[in-house]
Amino acid sequence: MAGNPAVVMRLLASAYAVSEKAGAIVRNVLYSGELGIVEKTGANDLQTMADRLAQQSICASLSKRFPKITIIGEEELPAEVVMEDLIENGQAEEILQKTCPVEYSDLKEEELVVWVDPLDGTKEYTEGLLDNVTVLIGIAYGGKAIAGVINQPFYNYQLGAKADLGRTIWGMLGLGAFGFQLQEVPGDRRIVTTTRSHSNKLVTDCVDAMEPHEVIRVGGAGNKIIQLVEGKASAYVFASPGCKKWDTCASEAILHAVGGRLTDMHGNAYHYDANVKHMNSAGVLATLRNHQYYASRVPQSVLQALKSN
Ligand code: AMP
Ligand code: MG
Ligand code: MG
Repeated sequence: MAGNPAVVMRLLASAYAVSEKAGAIVRNVLYSGELGIVEKTGANDLQTMADRLAQQSICASLSKRFPKITIIGEEELPAEVVMEDLIENGQAEEILQKTCPVEYSDLKEEELVVWVDPLDGTKEYTEGLLDNVTVLIGIAYGGKAIAGVINQPFYNYQLGAKADLGRTIWGMLGLGAFGFQLQEVPGDRRIVTTTRSHSNKLVTDCVDAMEPHEVIRVGGAGNKIIQLVEGKASAYVFASPGCKKWDTCASEAILHAVGGRLTDMHGNAYHYDANVKHMNSAGVLATLRNHQYYASRVPQSVLQALKSN
């Protein structure tokens, strides 16, 4: 694109580059063998050195270049000067070259909220289920998730030493999503993907109510959204609190950019303004197609237990 790209495109281009930097940090911490695991609320809610360094890298890099944006990261970290080698100054040329959708071309830095999950799927990261891990950077405007980046640091790791490790997927409403091949689950098969480490009776009752042909249990919100857009799963069903706005902002933007939907279990949208509560208390229901079918199958017991906010 000629001239000066819109602020949101520059922010997205920076988010792309910094997600790759964060992905490299996530790999390097693993290879160092020193994960530095800390339990947050319990054994299924972990933080590692990779979560901490990746968040520092993302937040410091973006706020250096865009000082007026609001950035909300998952990890609570002491305010300290971030090491210079964690700062990423690059921008993805591929994004700068795109024409900004007209409705977003005049957005100002101070109107944008960035939701950061520096390492989604930490539990799986510590267990060696490396393809479950993603770095999520979502951009919201007016309470809506409008753009996002998902970096998958260990994409292709099963292929061994020669593999080109990692990939970055990005998307924006009005532009589409890139970095993968959009595919739907063949035929009318209902393949439900859900949590592997945060399940409970509500979650399993709700999955059963979808009458799935197949159920996949994997870690990570970002990972499950990738399954939806690559035709590996038809619905992401998580009828429980636990997922937060930083899990769903980038995920939702990318899914919506290709015509999918992410809502709570009632079919209501989540909002991503700076002052919303972080917890997605009413669960997550995400689909590429046929959202209405899955929403209509949610049991009354789930709807009563999980109130929309
Ligand atoms: P999962 O599908 O279990 O990997 O969860 C997706 C995202 O939501 C991850 O970032 C999890 O850490 C988070 N999450 C879901 N349930 C919980 C929970 N009960 N406690 C803490 N985090 C959760
Ligand atoms: Mg997460
Ligand atoms: Mg995380």
